[in-house]
Amino acid sequence: MNLSWSTRLMSNAVPPLSESEQLRCAVEQKLVGTIAAEPTRATRADLYLALSQVAREQLAERWVRTQNADRNNKARRIYYLSMEFLIGRAMNNALSAIGLRDQTTALFTPPGPSLEEVMECEPDAALGNGGLGRLAACFLDSMATVGLPSWGYGVRYEYGMFAQSILNGQQVEKPEAWLQDRSPWEFPRANKHHTVRFGGTCEHHGEWAEWHAADSVEAKAFDYVIPGHGTDRVSTLRLWKAAAPSEIDLGAFNTGDYQRAAEFKNRFENISWVLYPNDSTSAGRELRLRQEYFFVSASLQDILERHQAEHGTFSNLAEHVAIHLNDTHPAISVAELMRLLVDDHAMPWAAAWDQCRRIFSYTNHTLMPEALETWKVTLIQRVLPRHILIIYRINQEFLDEVVRLYPGDIDLMRRVSLIDDGGGHDKDKRVRMANLCIVGSHRVNGVSQLHSDLMVQTIFADFARLYPERFHNKTNGVTPRRWLAQANPALSTLLDDKLGGKDWRLDLDRLQELRASADDAAFRTAFAAAKRGNKLRLANYVARELAVNLDPDSLFDVQVKRIHEYKRQLLNVLHVITRYNALLDGSARDYAPRSVIFAGKAASSYHMAKQVIRLIHDVAAVVNNDPRTRDLLRVVFIPNYGVSIAELIMPAANLSEQISTAGTEASGTGNMKLSLNGALTIGTEDGANIEIRDNVGAENIFIFGNNTAQVNAIRQAGHQPLALYHGDPALKEALDRIDTGFFSPGERSRYHDIFNCLLHYGDHYLLLADYADYVATQGRVDALYLNSDEWQRKAIINVAGMGPFSADRTIRDYANDTWHIDTN
Ligand SMILES: *Cc1c(COP(=O)(O)O)cnc(C)c1O
Repeated sequence: MNLSWSTRLMSNAVPPLSESEQLRCAVEQKLVGTIAAEPTRATRADLYLALSQVAREQLAERWVRTQNADRNNKARRIYYLSMEFLIGRAMNNALSAIGLRDQTTALFTPPGPSLEEVMECEPDAALGNGGLGRLAACFLDSMATVGLPSWGYGVRYEYGMFAQSILNGQQVEKPEAWLQDRSPWEFPRANKHHTVRFGGTCEHHGEWAEWHAADSVEAKAFDYVIPGHGTDRVSTLRLWKAAAPSEIDLGAFNTGDYQRAAEFKNRFENISWVLYPNDSTSAGRELRLRQEYFFVSASLQDILERHQAEHGTFSNLAEHVAIHLNDTHPAISVAELMRLLVDDHAMPWAAAWDQCRRIFSYTNHTLMPEALETWKVTLIQRVLPRHILIIYRINQEFLDEVVRLYPGDIDLMRRVSLIDDGGGHDKDKRVRMANLCIVGSHRVNGVSQLHSDLMVQTIFADFARLYPERFHNKTNGVTPRRWLAQANPALSTLLDDKLGGKDWRLDLDRLQELRASADDAAFRTAFAAAKRGNKLRLANYVARELAVNLDPDSLFDVQVKRIHEYKRQLLNVLHVITRYNALLDGSARDYAPRSVIFAGKAASSYHMAKQVIRLIHDVAAVVNNDPRTRDLLRVVFIPNYGVSIAELIMPAANLSEQISTAGTEASGTGNMKLSLNGALTIGTEDGANIEIRDNVGAENIFIFGNNTAQVNAIRQAGHQPLALYHGDPALKEALDRIDTGFFSPGERSRYHDIFNCLLHYGDHYLLLADYADYVATQGRVDALYLNSDEWQRKAIINVAGMGPFSADRTIRDYANDTWHIDTN
């Protein structure tokens, strides 16, 4: 930032300041008055902090006005409960929302740092694992933008998702202390706290009980403002931090036993220390259960307190409160709300249950059994003795209802019971959290049409028969503000030109109008130029960080997402090896130069996923250093995938890899972001890929492989990986090179387990069944890429078809069908 004018601030300059000068003054005042930095010596970090203070002040004013209006209107509130919010950086989004983005860009001119460089000082708020947490963040943005009186509730993890670095080709996890220097975006609410209790015993008084807890912890509120776009509405994300109750154990402190006092403090504060880095698997540990209950109890107490202050009664709770459960992680809410209403607020059980069922709604995110959350009855009994009783009573009344509907169907009762009876052994009994959610909610939804259909046909088939009106689909979406307007300024500028303004950001269906421009050569050229600029930006990053040069004219083939067997990064690797082999033996024809780009984290305890990361690195080392192939094929793994890295990669992609086994990916949202940024998809008939195809047209997407019905048929008949291996020389050669250590000459047996998993342990995700079609389809991708005009045409049509995948559309659907509230 050029600060040569700075004396002006001090002299009472007579002419009124222009808007941009006012902004400059505001930043300088914050630099001096709040950050205590000398403007001419300010570092990028100082400038970031000063600028965030300017934005924060405006957001705070809007927040106060919004909250006042909602309070005065006694607005119906939407509360979104989620263990994860994968937000990323806040600055760019905040500046865009308050309309300061362009002015601020102009403020940061050479020789000082650019606004982009200043914004890179901000650490990502990575309070989530992947898609589920990112969805919650997109929803907060959309809820504010479409005008819903909305709150997010979650945990203020001291350490979010671990930072990933790569050492000798292997993932290394490091704690991410994103709050180390405090976040300028949070508002600590010193007077907002609730007590959350654990353990102890219960004393019964008929319907209600008195809970004599053994322990308690304070939940302290920290608010994050969530700006809406094109509106002054600012919503709140309220995150809870665990703190030791201040009054207790002063004894230890008084007697100078600081060791004990510190241990005591840690024992309580560890509840909000760290996010469990599991994606699509249940953590199943006591600390996790405590985290879940901790944030649920604090949030529900907060919600009831607000309602009580506005209405003075709970008899109309369901008219004014909707609570959404993002997966089963907040499932204990159902029992907690019953406890608060019945035990603490003296509501009769039946009335409380009636409220409950009208208040809650629940989103299921996965059909995979290893992800379905259950808790040992004995554990819940010990940690939450009152809640286990409530769950048993809910179950009793529910099963009574089932018996009335289907007398004598014992098997049905066993299947739908909230309790898995563990074969009759008490110690093996488990609470099924999804069942608790379904029974306690009036709406249950999946996250894509296919997922919602499979949900009611498979895991929840019995419930769908009992409560058909309860089940709906709400296909996911992404916010066009972050994922197009902010991440891809080059394409956004082009869209502003073409569509005559910026309102596509709030009405993504306007992208349809692009379809006509796909045949306009000048537009195609401009579109391709924007993409090339983004590829250059990514290539520069990769050159800087990994010392690998990517040719910006090569096809950027991108698979970025959590590393998981069902997502089949390994199938992608098999194709890369096949391509390499074909280049070497001369059988390759008409290959477009390709840069295959991977990114993603593996759960710390997920051996197979970590092996895949290592294999990618080993393959990259061979391929990138082979002078015979290096101009036609490069492979990179970009470390530490997160929101900010995604914002860099997505706009640069030509090809979006969405290749999960059909029937396993609930929706995917990475697929939407990439297509929105003009990538063509190569994908299976899975999750929202199907709806993307429906919207962009089958001729503009590369769909391959077995569909869900075929996958089921293959499994039914008995999948034969060995036969496929022996029957396909290219496949055999690729697999043999993995197995015999071609890519790991220093340790030839390194990938035996990967090979065995595919060949001898059943290839559970059917990589071998989809391999041939995948490789053939990749050949069609090359052919199209070599016809640049056709490629650009299809890429434009992809962008044009993405209107329905705005999270604004998703939120409007929830508002109409699930939350029963109007949007603007
Ligand atoms: C969108 C997103 C995801 C989800 O990606 P999928 O391809 O849908 O699994 C995960 N992580 C980050 C950082 C994202 O932005």
